Amino acid sequence: MSDTLSLAERFRRLIAATGPISLAHYMAEANAHYYASRDPLGVGGDFITAPEVSQMFGEMIGVWLADIWMRAGKPEPVLYVELGPGRGTLARDCLKAAARFGLAPQVHFVETSPLLRQAQSGGMPAAQWHDDLSTLPDDVPMLLVANEFLDALPIRQLVKTPQGWRERMVGVIDGDFAPVAGDRPMDAAVPEAFREAEAGTIVETCPAAAAVVEEIARRLAAQGGAALLIDYGYDAVQTGSTLQALRAHRHHDPFAAPGDADLTALVDFATAAQVAHRAGARVQGPQGQGAWLHAMGIGTRAAALAQSSPAHAGAIAAALERLTHPDQMGALFRVMELVAPDWPDGAGF
Ligand code: SAH
Repeated sequence: MSDTLSLAERFRRLIAATGPISLAHYMAEANAHYYASRDPLGVGGDFITAPEVSQMFGEMIGVWLADIWMRAGKPEPVLYVELGPGRGTLARDCLKAAARFGLAPQVHFVETSPLLRQAQSGGMPAAQWHDDLSTLPDDVPMLLVANEFLDALPIRQLVKTPQGWRERMVGVIDGDFAPVAGDRPMDAAVPEAFREAEAGTIVETCPAAAAVVEEIARRLAAQGGAALLIDYGYDAVQTGSTLQALRAHRHHDPFAAPGDADLTALVDFATAAQVAHRAGARVQGPQGQGAWLHAMGIGTRAAALAQSSPAHAGAIAAALERLTHPDQMGALFRVMELVAPDWPDGAGF
């Protein structure tokens, strides 16, 4: 608790001394504090992710990785790279499924939270950790997976005011953190199509996500391999704020408790696809998580699991529904593939 107070207090002092801070600064520090201080996943935490719903999610990803690796000629050595692996559940389920096809990659995790690194180490004696992608090996093909990673990276927002476009900042109003418009003109940073939008319009970008996608694509083009990016997001550029805070599975005001709630924004897959393409990767998708999982055979897997443990058939059916139904995680969650120019396309698209 005192750590949380001190983050809010640090923000307050900074804002009092130098004026409002950027939303990106606010989100980056709040999330770094948040992930370093707790395990946010699961029923007792703040949110649940697909790998925590069912082993079937990781298994389908493991089958996808093994399939593309085999059709690429089974290069060895090969890396398994996961960005933001949470508790390590996806990595364990996916590598177990991939091992049945003879795929035994070197494991590299990109993770900043010491607490979550600890959780990820279970069953992964040879895993290596990195603070960011820059220290990953650069001479070996990589199979990369990121589930609900890009959504946690800091966004930037621009807001149209009667005086023109401004950066959306975080200030203190009546003692509380609140969004305020900065005073420097930002019109040049706004895409042509949105310049004349009405006052109050917000344009959101995520330079950090674009930089990560660019590095993945550049590495794939140079090293070979394939990547699966899975997140909730949108396929065409849009306006409006998608910043949200989750705490104990409920939505909260993102400015109420910095460092004490998970701050995320929807992923702009349109920009991600453009960036990846420009950096030399081939792109497939995005498409809905439900359609992709069904194409990978999750229905058959669910039936087999239910047959071998009938007592769990109800729970397995519920998990299948949760992962794939359009009203649950099946449509808002998108799956996008990046692949090296000389690798085959992955399955399921
Ligand atoms: N992929 C997991 C966890 C998602 S939560 C799952 O699906 O269950 C987001 C994960 O990204 C956490 O592991 C968090 O610690 C990590 N993370 C968030 N921001 C990060 C950053 N800037 N660099 C590295 N890891 C980050």
